[in-house]
Amino acid sequence: MRTLIIASGNAHKAEEFQQLLAETDFSVQSAAVSGGMPDVEENGGTFAANAQLKAEALRELAPSDGWVLADDSGLEVDALGGAPGIYSARYAGEGASDGDNLQKLLEEMFETEEGKRTARFRCVLCLIGPSGELSFFDGTCEGRISREPAGGSGFGYDPVFVPDGYEESFAELGDAVKGKLSHRGRAVQALIAGVV
Ligand code: IMP
Repeated sequence: MRTLIIASGNAHKAEEFQQLLAETDFSVQSAAVSGGMPDVEENGGTFAANAQLKAEALRELAPSDGWVLADDSGLEVDALGGAPGIYSARYAGEGASDGDNLQKLLEEMFETEEGKRTARFRCVLCLIGPSGELSFFDGTCEGRISREPAGGSGFGYDPVFVPDGYEESFAELGDAVKGKLSHRGRAVQALIAGVV
């Protein structure tokens, strides 16, 4: 088994990766095994650059024979010109909670009519191997933003994101369905095809 450490302080993300990589020869660990995820200023300007910043920050603390995986992800809403994008985690301001961000999104889209509420989640993964080699993988998931939050699973904007082909939000569909459709699930499929 190869040890793969997830460069994120978000416990829910680490669990999603654990499930998504369960059938591989990676033993997935959270950043806690390396003393926790260090604070990283995400000033990269793109999802890929921010994923690389996070992966490199944890690489310095992780065991030298381990692999490190970081993701940077976010929501792009067409009616908002692609916002919140790379600012998804801090849309309502520095230190904003998931609930604050979701509330701001619904307020900004209050006047946006049904057919114009299209959006997508994007995810870029940055993997660093034991000898320092970098690889990138990406995934997207198209959908739309509902008017009211619904469902109790997942995190972030899941309660208002309805993936194409469904009437329920990611938070209603649950982790197993989300893993098959989601931006992170698709990026992990690309990683498995490329590395495992
Ligand atoms: P990151 O952790 O810096 O990549 O920030 C990602 C932000 O995008 C999160 O804080 C969420 O607001 C949002 N996000 C990314 N992926 C998801 C998802 O799968 N569901 C809901 N929100 C997500």
